[in-house]
Amino acid sequence: MKLIFERGEEGQFLSILPKCDVPVTKLPEKLKRAGAPHLPHVSENELSRHYSTLAKAVHGVNDGFYPLGSCTMKYNPKINEQVSALPGFTGVHPLQDDSTVQGSLEVLYDIEKALCAITGMDALTLQPAAGAHGEFTGLMLIKSYLRSKGQADVRKKIIVPDSAHGTNPASAAMCDFTIVNIPSAPDGCVDLDALKAAVGPDTAGLMLTNPNTVGVFDKNILEITKIVHDAGGLCYYDGANLNAVMGVVRPGDMGFDCIHLNLHKTFSTPHGGGGPGSGPVGCKAFLADFLPGVRVTRTAKGAYKSGSAKKHFGEVKAFGGNFLVVVRALAYILTLGKEGIPEASKNAVLNANYMQACLKEDYDLAFNVYCMHEFVLTLDRLHKETGVSALDLAKGLLDRGIHPPTMYFPLIVHEALMIEPTETEPKEMLDSVIAAFKELKKVAYENPQALHDAPLHTPVRRLDDVRAARTPVLRYKFS
Ligand SMILES: *Cc1c(COP(=O)(O)O)cnc(C)c1O
Repeated sequence: MKLIFERGEEGQFLSILPKCDVPVTKLPEKLKRAGAPHLPHVSENELSRHYSTLAKAVHGVNDGFYPLGSCTMKYNPKINEQVSALPGFTGVHPLQDDSTVQGSLEVLYDIEKALCAITGMDALTLQPAAGAHGEFTGLMLIKSYLRSKGQADVRKKIIVPDSAHGTNPASAAMCDFTIVNIPSAPDGCVDLDALKAAVGPDTAGLMLTNPNTVGVFDKNILEITKIVHDAGGLCYYDGANLNAVMGVVRPGDMGFDCIHLNLHKTFSTPHGGGGPGSGPVGCKAFLADFLPGVRVTRTAKGAYKSGSAKKHFGEVKAFGGNFLVVVRALAYILTLGKEGIPEASKNAVLNANYMQACLKEDYDLAFNVYCMHEFVLTLDRLHKETGVSALDLAKGLLDRGIHPPTMYFPLIVHEALMIEPTETEPKEMLDSVIAAFKELKKVAYENPQALHDAPLHTPVRRLDDVRAARTPVLRYKFS
């Protein structure tokens, strides 16, 4: 397809600028650009077609099933969009006086209270813009705390299980911690002996997600957090899998000291290209003074006041974070309410178990247990017997209008496909996807070449993803 710069021609335009309503001021010469900017020359009609063409070339939650494990690609309710588009929210400026933005401050205050209630934390910042950004923020809280105790130079190690999301060790490394990897037990949970052997006077903390990345709730969680605490370390909860347990069990009660949430996963705000993310970080009271970002308090008279934490370690983003994303998440929480939130989680777990039960005759489960909100298949045997890999199967799904599950993650499972249907899919959809999986298995044994050749019906066929990662072309070359 043509890029926007290749459409239209000089002289076409679509902007009708409003009349200037401020005094015209001359720009200093040194601030002026050297040449004219490269702007597309298109009419509104051409622009509109351009975006329609782009929209048809991608697959999003509005196009079909999107079971990308660990990413919770749930439906994004339209009421969230309506609420966040209210001019009272879109028209405010972060430097406005508190008295003029009481409603926006109330949003920040209310969602902090709601997310703390859901997670069992005492305080929370909405500043981080993504889960990984939240991990960085949470680890900086741990670091700030250790510094305040004079232990930062001794406690330098962060323990991360080998099933962890890649962002966990990456965030720890960015905070200048040393990473200690521990192996998982055969059931995918934390190996208690390995943990006991890993902790010591140099332990800063542990990073863990529960349920873990194989979709299993770690039954030893209280013992795990105790082992770390007894050694003097802190426990960090990667909240990416909260969709399995929200409103049912709280990380604060499992023994975690700080957490991040992914509003773009669990709390139904758009993911990726649909908008910016948000990775709020919650903590227990003893860490609250170190939190970055806007802290909103309520006076005795009910007025909202913005401020910052006493000993915050710095800012991780401007002002209150991606505010309009936060508005969407609050709309979601208030729509579901106290009963709806645990019900959503329970349905997410039900949907995953239904799919797992229907697929386990045809595919090998990485762990044959009741799962939480997601489960992992291993295509190791299928690969050995037919030559069809998890990647080939994923490409076959694309031809059937289904977004592939997460592939080759967690790393501890060979030929892994990690499926997370979410609670927002009806049974008819699950059944049709189950049928597609069963059909693909047949194809793998009868005509494996068909899957090596897939996809046939997508806008582009197989891409050279190694070259795309190693030598990406990120800028358009103007002739
Ligand atoms: C998605 C995810 C993250 C990172 O979150 P982003 O918002 O993508 O930065 C961390 N851990 C796990 C387990 C995840 O699934």
